[in-house]
Amino acid sequence: PRPFDVHAVRRDFPILQERVNGRPLVWFDNAATTQKPQAVIDRIAHFYAHENSNIHRAAHELAARATDAYEEARETVRRFIGAGSTEEIIFVRGTTEAINLVAKSWGAKHIGAGDEIIVSHLEHHANIVPWQQLAAEKGARIRVIPVDDDGQVLLDEFQKLLNDRTKLVSVTQVSNALGTVVPVQKIVEIAHRAGVRTLVDGAQSISHMKVDVRALDTDFFVFSGHKIFGPTGIGVVYGKREILEDTPPWQGGGNMIADVTFERTVFQPPPNKFEAGTGNIADAVGLGAALEYVERLGIEAIGQYEHALLDYATGRMRPIPGVRLIGTAADKASVLSFVLEGYTTEAVGKALNQEGIAVRTGHHCAQPILRRFGLETTVRPSLAFYNTCEEVDRMVAVVERLARARS
Ligand code: PMP
Repeated sequence: PRPFDVHAVRRDFPILQERVNGRPLVWFDNAATTQKPQAVIDRIAHFYAHENSNIHRAAHELAARATDAYEEARETVRRFIGAGSTEEIIFVRGTTEAINLVAKSWGAKHIGAGDEIIVSHLEHHANIVPWQQLAAEKGARIRVIPVDDDGQVLLDEFQKLLNDRTKLVSVTQVSNALGTVVPVQKIVEIAHRAGVRTLVDGAQSISHMKVDVRALDTDFFVFSGHKIFGPTGIGVVYGKREILEDTPPWQGGGNMIADVTFERTVFQPPPNKFEAGTGNIADAVGLGAALEYVERLGIEAIGQYEHALLDYATGRMRPIPGVRLIGTAADKASVLSFVLEGYTTEAVGKALNQEGIAVRTGHHCAQPILRRFGLETTVRPSLAFYNTCEEVDRMVAVVERLARARS
């Protein structure tokens, strides 16, 4: 792996120079959203300064530039996740819209009364609510893979849930609330052996580990651009080509049609069939720049560095009196959820913010998994490759001070 120079990397992110409450910003809220390197900011500015146009429809120079930039971004996404074809890459607003798209198009066609959809106890609300809505509409049912006390999914229990009514297994690859890495490769294999389709929610995994959708063999893979150093408002659905071809569109409108009369519409092939209306062209281009940036650093090098950083942070937090770590799986990425005896999570968040340290406190849009641990909220620092051991030390100092004040 390439050597990883965190101090050089930090200079690529202008926002890391911000001061908050007189202290240098520590951005430990990467699971909520990541910061943007100058390369992404510049690429979006360049698009609006030199290339801006709607795509596909107009035959003029800027339309050609915008179309090229948009389709190059699609190719970059394809390469980044190892898909076989750009026809398998659909641009959407983010993971939430991605899962809704799959539920409302593929799900509406293939899931009916009495059918079952399996999710895990770790899911973000975005991978629960759309399936619940579909289940209510169709008379289908949600089944839940339980987790152990470390927050790891129980594969044996998953096996037992599969039956001939199961139509889909939809699971996250990394838990946003606990950081658990889910063995999605095994889950996909087991599901496929039972003839069941799969969706993997990559919102939290995409920026931390190598994703290869062909090796994973999942039917759908979804993620958000803003969680991998790209802009908000752009995300991706990967779907296997033969599945997308056989899936009806979700929204209807311009861009997605081959021919329209008042009697009927002939749709474009994928991916256009699923991209009705003017898309988020500039931010798709920005996402392409973000993925190229990550490629330059190397996702393996990133993963190794972050792993060491998370180990360091865990080792420093665990011994603090009154700290309870939530999510103690053997395989984790980025997230270090905790509660501190004698303090609300809000109070801990405030104390950290006072020192310029940004963490999320709350339910992290994953209420079922927090309730599994008897909690409504946690404090959730989440790390990225531009974070450092010194930043961890600053956080630890605040938590230690709070812990001492209590006793
Ligand atoms: N799934 C997971 C695992 C997430 O962490 C998130 C974002 N917190 C989402 C889905 C939803 O992503 P978005 O808000 O970008 O649509």
